[in-house]
Amino acid sequence: MNAQRVVADLRELAALTSTADGAQRLAWGPVWRQAREWFAGKIGALGLRIETDSAGNNWVTLPGASPKTVIVGSHLDSVPNGGWLDGCLGVMAGLEALRMHAGATPPVTLKLVDWADEEGARFGRSLLGSAAAAGSLKVDEVRELKDRQGTRLVDALAENGVQLDRMLDAHGDLKKIDARAYLELHIEQGPVLESINKPTGVVLGTFGVERNMIRFTGQAAHSGSTPIPMRRDAFLAAAETALACRGIALRHSKPGAGVVCTVGIVNVEPKIVTAVPGVCEISIDQRALDAGVLAAMLKDAREASEKAARDNNVKVEWRELWRINPRPFDPALLRLCEDAVREETGDAPRLPSGPLHDAAEMVPHMPVVMMFAYSSNGLSHCKEEDTPAQHLEKTISAYLRLVQKTVAHVREMK
Ligand SMILES: [Zn+2]
Repeated sequence: MNAQRVVADLRELAALTSTADGAQRLAWGPVWRQAREWFAGKIGALGLRIETDSAGNNWVTLPGASPKTVIVGSHLDSVPNGGWLDGCLGVMAGLEALRMHAGATPPVTLKLVDWADEEGARFGRSLLGSAAAAGSLKVDEVRELKDRQGTRLVDALAENGVQLDRMLDAHGDLKKIDARAYLELHIEQGPVLESINKPTGVVLGTFGVERNMIRFTGQAAHSGSTPIPMRRDAFLAAAETALACRGIALRHSKPGAGVVCTVGIVNVEPKIVTAVPGVCEISIDQRALDAGVLAAMLKDAREASEKAARDNNVKVEWRELWRINPRPFDPALLRLCEDAVREETGDAPRLPSGPLHDAAEMVPHMPVVMMFAYSSNGLSHCKEEDTPAQHLEKTISAYLRLVQKTVAHVREMK
């Protein structure tokens, strides 16, 4: 196990694919292809080779004594002006996991995957490659996507040898793998590990999300001539709802539950300093790791909005923007992950993941767990993204321990 070698690889990749503004490995573009070529060289040095599936995901297989398979990996693509660890940390740690076993026959098969276009930074669809492999990609929903320059996704894919209408073939390939575990190491991209000063975290799963717009309709009226009890103020109903929703989230909060709630948009009409607001629309984004908790939060928020509407004599309507179920990780792998993190760092803090990851797409298909590395100042998707050197090495070592434990665990499975 060599955590320092992983860090050296990461530095090498950063030097090759970054500018002074950060990493530039935008999916389907020339710098991303250059990163993948460089990576193919590293794989070639192990006597292995890369196979690309119909969705553009790169796979490396180290056949073991058994077809039972442990998958490691993450993504090499980055946002424009991105960080040096987001995605490639998991790929380079996966490379080291292969190195530990290359030259011999491991007891189980190891596969390393570099997912294509995790970030969705160019065309707006995150997890493109892993969603295709998971079979959850709706091809027609992305067919018309264009980037800011007006380049169509289908053309950018074709430039990389990927046909949109064949992308879901990658799902057939995934189903052929006797996959027993998917292990992804990623930078946290948030402030939780830093706030408790721990280098490494065990990730419980990815949040479920309920995202809605709530529209309150009252009556616009003159602010000087309309007595307060006679008003139908849509903004006040929205404001009372926003405060109630914070209370609901706090009520459902407990450590590790990952409960958050955000009102990020407020639109008010007629937006005149001398008019009572007749219409107010707010967004509400609710997240939780537990599906039951998330459903209860949504129900409580609806009731709060109805009460606020009644109290202010306005009408309320809800419109769903987007939702996804929580994706909790595998209990057996969580135990192995906790053991690995504790042995390496002396503690095993557990936390949910706010951002989605490729790992979330694998949850319906195989046992999954993720491990997080400390984020300095909680920053990511920017050139300041970093993990302090001693924390980074400890985290990589913990991840490689997790791979070893998982190989031993899968070996004993039927
Ligand atoms: Zn990432």
